[in-house]
Amino acid sequence: MSADVQQPAAAVRAPAERALARPERRALTALVAVVVLGAIGAISLLDIRPPAPKPVSAPADQFSAARAADHINTFAARTHVAGSANNDTVRNYLVNTLSGFGLRTSVQDTVGGEAGDLSGSSGAAAVAHVRNVVAEVPGTDPTGTVFLVAHYDSVQVGPGGNDDGAGTSSVLEVARALSQGPAPRNNVVFVLTDAEEACLCGALAFASAHPLAKDGGVALNLEARGSTGPVIMFETSRDNAKLVSLFRSAAPHPVGTSFAVEVYRLLPNDTDFTAFLGNDFVGLNSAYIDGGAVYHTPLDTPASVDRRTLQQHGENALGLVRAFGATDLTDLRANGDATYFPVPGTLVSYPGWLTWPLAGLALLAVVGLALLTVRSGRATWGKVAAGFGLGLVPIVAAPLAAQLLWMLVTALRPGYADLLDPYRPLLWRLTVILLAATVLLTWYALLRRRIGPAALALGAFGWLAVLGLVLAAATPGGSYLAALPALAGALGGIVALRLRGAWTAVPLTVGAAVGVVILVPTVVLLFPALGMAMGGVGALFATLLGLAALPIVDLLLPAAGGQRGLVALRARRLGLGVPVLALVATLALAGSAFAVDRFDAAHPIPTHLMYALDADTGQARWVSYESSPQPWTAGYLATREKVGTQFPEIGASTVRTGPAQAAALPPAALTVVSDSTAGGVRTLRVKLAPQRQVRLAALHVDGATATVDQASVDGFEVPVDRSGPWSFGLVFHAPPAGGFEVSLTLRPAGAGPVRFRVEDGSDGLEALPGFKPRPAGVGVLGSHSSELVLVVKSYLL
Ligand SMILES: [Zn+2]
Repeated sequence: MSADVQQPAAAVRAPAERALARPERRALTALVAVVVLGAIGAISLLDIRPPAPKPVSAPADQFSAARAADHINTFAARTHVAGSANNDTVRNYLVNTLSGFGLRTSVQDTVGGEAGDLSGSSGAAAVAHVRNVVAEVPGTDPTGTVFLVAHYDSVQVGPGGNDDGAGTSSVLEVARALSQGPAPRNNVVFVLTDAEEACLCGALAFASAHPLAKDGGVALNLEARGSTGPVIMFETSRDNAKLVSLFRSAAPHPVGTSFAVEVYRLLPNDTDFTAFLGNDFVGLNSAYIDGGAVYHTPLDTPASVDRRTLQQHGENALGLVRAFGATDLTDLRANGDATYFPVPGTLVSYPGWLTWPLAGLALLAVVGLALLTVRSGRATWGKVAAGFGLGLVPIVAAPLAAQLLWMLVTALRPGYADLLDPYRPLLWRLTVILLAATVLLTWYALLRRRIGPAALALGAFGWLAVLGLVLAAATPGGSYLAALPALAGALGGIVALRLRGAWTAVPLTVGAAVGVVILVPTVVLLFPALGMAMGGVGALFATLLGLAALPIVDLLLPAAGGQRGLVALRARRLGLGVPVLALVATLALAGSAFAVDRFDAAHPIPTHLMYALDADTGQARWVSYESSPQPWTAGYLATREKVGTQFPEIGASTVRTGPAQAAALPPAALTVVSDSTAGGVRTLRVKLAPQRQVRLAALHVDGATATVDQASVDGFEVPVDRSGPWSFGLVFHAPPAGGFEVSLTLRPAGAGPVRFRVEDGSDGLEALPGFKPRPAGVGVLGSHSSELVLVVKSYLL
């Protein structure tokens, strides 16, 4: 029995479908609906596009990206990692610039830190010698203090034009603009932190110990994890309803979504904002994330900073500083969390308690639509159930297809594996969106004759409603993404049932438009947030968008049912024509993405290489974290091994290594300052002094020889983590040239000495014997351990 003769009788009966079954009428309706939805999508995208940059000649009380960019060109021309001479130069520039605006400017020079680690597995506490630049604007009648925060240190391999040259220059330009006008009501403090890249240590020192921070306040942090795209307010303190409402009214270009907070938690990133939250501040965290290929690499230059993005970053910051500077800061924490997302012209925001009612309402609306649909004879309950069951197929298949595609692409071009996002990601993102469309259209074309358009649309809305409920439980800030399109789609369907002919397309288009407004910016913002390696998430939301607009998608295909025999056969072939077309377009797009996004001198393949010398044995190694080594790196590598017990900074996981020539690099010296034992507890004060110019120095105590109970460095108490092979680990970033003292209270395991592992890390990989310069087209991976030169030595004390 052929399905061709089993057309849904109801579809033939219904006058609306009969009217839209006429090919010309149907094509025209489809065209109008698609143009309307396309225009709404385009407006949604234009709305989150950063504004035009303002020139150097812009009025003095305004933020000018050109003026801010001049600062970046000056201080971010070279890398300026914490503790380096370049960083001193940058700091002097910042102090001079801020005091030049007439602001009381000082440097907080201290040791700061908290538990943390460099490689993600050494379990060591991290501290740093930090020098934070702090400039004050005293308020006229303060109710509290507003802190505008960015970090001025860069990573060791890149100049940090964006990260965080953009934030730092924005702070300077906001400080200048603010100093032009009347003094604000509240205190405003500009904080340019040090050693963010190493350990957030500058922000930790400021938030926990600076006198200006002791009463807390509002922290507004400016960050960058790319080079372009909209600035997204992606993180808030808890109970953010009032903060979000101020953000909406005060930021000239407010882009932010309550879903971003949930996405951010999935990512391995951390910013200075964490340090402020940990010290009970309230506040907002903003960053831009597109153009992630340059993140933490030598390509993060001043020239790579998108001036539009910089304008948005600074203009929003200035607006927020002015608004928080004028408002009563005494009770900003109230009313729970808000749900918020961008719509053209503004930011929609509603109280978080509406999440469950809206998600419930969406489900009710879908159930109501199902009842009315069955009652009108457009579908049976059996078909509705089948539509719902089969609705899960594209939701699962499209993300899966996207992930498989990227696995294939990465297998063909392994350089992608170690890149946050491709250099030219647009074609790849469009490929994934088209792939999702292909999956959805194929699924739809195969099923709609058998199940019927009405039942399939019900299934689509049903899954959106279910997802709305699931998200309400798991990530409340993201529930709106599915619940609102389901609600709007179902209400549109209910209205459409009461209309005739082409008019039915009007409420259906309006319903789909809600999905477009909500999900188009979501898809566009998710791709840079997660990178192509998690492109499946973008595919998932693209699929949800397609499901929200399924009644309109239906119009793109020839009318379902109504034909018999040969005509029906032709219709079916035509029905598959659209998905086949989509598939061909996907393949063509993937091919052009592959051809366009090649690695070259300006878009180099990222490579990761470090050097590790064990001064005990005189043996040296090249070490790489690359997942599948590039030819350049492979030249240094011979095997895979675990070297974490030898080099604590490298961590416990398996890495690629190869033999290297031992360089004449002196290990750090460890000497006893004082030593006393009472009641089995040994109190030991040691001095760790690097014998060369280093970025970090680390001290580890072998757990087999002693148990450490307490530790402090230069009077700063540090946490003790005894979970690994080490009874204690400490990494000191930007250590003083003369070294530093560590006080330990420990219990020796036996009568023998305690074994210490002392390690230091520096720049200078390219000067090592055996290092061959990278050829054009081979670049440096954006990682905190790239180009690190480690020297380690054991001491028995
Ligand atoms: Zn960074």
